[in-house]
Amino acid sequence: MKCPQCKGSKTLNVAISEKGKEDNTLEVPCPTCEGSGQVTKEEADSWNDAMNLWCSCGNPSKNTQYIPDNVSSVCNKHHWVCDDCGKIVQVG
Ligand SMILES: [Zn+2]
Ligand SMILES: [Zn+2]
Repeated sequence: MKCPQCKGSKTLNVAISEKGKEDNTLEVPCPTCEGSGQVTKEEADSWNDAMNLWCSCGNPSKNTQYIPDNVSSVCNKHHWVCDDCGKIVQVG
């Protein structure tokens, strides 16, 4: 099936920011499908599960909560969660 990350386009555009330089976009092979544009259903499901842990509400209140190492069952590295939806905003 079509890769959910690159949506079958096989590559991703990654923004590279370097101090004192203009932002650059680099086209890289999609790591989820390894540049094939296709994944198995299992691979697509696990990608979707992982994405479901991340905040997609845009964090309207701009408030986040700090979760220390080894506290959460979702992510054992310290991270921040969105106060609005309770999902992960940033890890590490
Ligand atoms: Zn892909
Ligand atoms: Zn959120």
